[in-house]
Amino acid sequence: MSAKYDDKKHGRLLEVGRKIEKGVTHKLEPPFIDSILGTLEFFGASDAEMKQFIFDLKVAKYKIWDFLGMSYDSEYIQSKPVFIGFDKLVDLYTKMKDVGGFAWFLRGHDLDIEEPKKCADCIKSYQDWKKESPEDAAKREKEMKDFYGEVIDVG
Ligand SMILES: [Zn+2]
Repeated sequence: MSAKYDDKKHGRLLEVGRKIEKGVTHKLEPPFIDSILGTLEFFGASDAEMKQFIFDLKVAKYKIWDFLGMSYDSEYIQSKPVFIGFDKLVDLYTKMKDVGGFAWFLRGHDLDIEEPKKCADCIKSYQDWKKESPEDAAKREKEMKDFYGEVIDVG
């Protein structure tokens, strides 16, 4: 399995991203950022790459499409195993056209065996999650951790 940089795919990502994510930084909650980071780690990101991604998403808080586009477009990343992860994430983001649904998909589906696709259930699950009280959210978060285990511990 391999992936090749596709200029048209990059263009579609930017087009969708500019429509659905505005403002300066991303608005995703930490558990979902951890899901993105866990996915990249799964697809073979090195420790040094993970450090960079953690900085990009947790400190600089780049918009998700910005982060994906920057990485997908990077010749350094293109030469690394983790590029296949970005290739899938770019497909997923572009097809989902919903940032919360994109992030939820990473918890509810397995990108290793499933093709990236639009999933209305994932979009709805994220919206429902946003409506929960902080107590309910903490409870659900604990249940997810008990069930899936810690995705990644980034301190
Ligand atoms: Zn889904």
